[in-house]
Amino acid sequence: AYVVTEACIKCKYMDCVEVCPVDCFYEGETMVVINPNECIDCGVCEPECPAEAILPDTEGGLEKWMELNATYSAQWPNI
Ligand code: SF4
Repeated sequence: AYVVTEACIKCKYMDCVEVCPVDCFYEGETMVVINPNECIDCGVCEPECPAEAILPDTEGGLEKWMELNATYSAQWPNI
């Protein structure tokens, strides 16, 4: 799955949300997150993010963000 990371905080351009074919973005007050169970790994959102906040979870060192995306996508409203 793809993961939204720190650069998203207070950005929220939302370009990523518009291109996602499976609507797996969820929105909190300061950032958006991706539901890892719904993301189909298409990669379309990654180049759309002007803040370069979206990364594949295959990249190292993203454990904290992977956990945050999984936790909050279960609690926040789908957008
Ligand atoms: Fe949506 Fe594709 Fe991005 Fe996953 S990789 S969040 S399915 S646009």
